Amino acid sequence: MAFSFQNLITNDIAIDLGTANTLVYVRGRGIIIREPSIVAVRKLDQEIVAYGTEAKEMQGRTPGEITTVRPLKDGVIADFELAEAMIRHFIKKVGNTNLRRPRVAVCIPSGITDVEKRAVRDSCEHAGAREVHLLDEPMAAAIGVGLPIEDPVGSMVIDIGGGTTEIAVISLSGIVTDISIRIGGDEMNDSIIQHFKRNYNLLVGENTAENIKCTLGSAAPYNEDATMNVRGRDLVAGIPKTVEISQKEVQEALAEAVNAIVDATKLCLERTPPELSSDILDRGIVLSGGGALLKGLDERLRDETSLPIIVAEDPLTCVVRGTGRVLEDLSHYQKVLSKVRRY
Ligand code: ADP
Ligand code: MG
Repeated sequence: MAFSFQNLITNDIAIDLGTANTLVYVRGRGIIIREPSIVAVRKLDQEIVAYGTEAKEMQGRTPGEITTVRPLKDGVIADFELAEAMIRHFIKKVGNTNLRRPRVAVCIPSGITDVEKRAVRDSCEHAGAREVHLLDEPMAAAIGVGLPIEDPVGSMVIDIGGGTTEIAVISLSGIVTDISIRIGGDEMNDSIIQHFKRNYNLLVGENTAENIKCTLGSAAPYNEDATMNVRGRDLVAGIPKTVEISQKEVQEALAEAVNAIVDATKLCLERTPPELSSDILDRGIVLSGGGALLKGLDERLRDETSLPIIVAEDPLTCVVRGTGRVLEDLSHYQKVLSKVRRY
């Protein structure tokens, strides 16, 4: 970034408040924080004992008196107080070395209500923000990917996060068609957990399920001979057990979630005005969010829609990079900011 006096006196930050991961970008410094959106809480007095990565490591391994909580779930804020505490923690962690209080741009799941948007804004203000600007997730992803969102052409993005999949067609700085479903990476993990319960009487933890999804999971046939040993607890005997599973099995377990994403994509295309559809035919659909990394998902969507499908570069950071770009030129991006009325 070019040197400017502005960088010396401000310490503006962009936040991707995701259901699975929170990322924080600081103007002039880049992405500083990249941690799971998880807190560990002591049950007795609801005191928070760990945030982010540290809390995720505790997940499924906590002693009885501590529990891990995800303040954002299914694309909505499930626990206001914990969400606020988490936002404050991450803003404080970045630190403000400058004289002026920072301006903050936050990207939020587009399904959240006005009340929740205000809660996010207030949390940022309590954490010391001078101004707070909110941005919808698909818009931030599209900007992060570098799509020409201001032009009179249709750009289509599918952002697959932990709690939701957001599909949007954007033109002239606005979202023209938009579908959000509460299916994402979490649902895929759940399907894997259910698969083991049903077929092997084996209980596996959430982190194990996620690991299986990322290493062996796919949306289309892929390296079909691959297998993996999975450890869990036998539900009948109650003792630890190892089971070997195949790529094909995991693909089957994930099929329902993948089909839901495919169907929602088709529905979004059906609802798109024809001029914009013709742009998408030429320019294709961009996939962002961690779910875009699921093997074979691009291939599956290509087969189902006959459109070019492009997986964004570094899909896990598209949204924070887009939010950062907006933060750096707020006056230019006025139109894309999400409006929340004051009380
Ligand atoms: P959010 O915006 O909701 O915080 P992210 O965009 O950070 O979500 O994506 C997180 C999701 O992506 C998680 O559910 C995670 O399991 C999933 N994910 C990450 N890497 C992979 C991978 N290689 N294959 C499939 N899913 C993945
Ligand atoms: Mg996200």
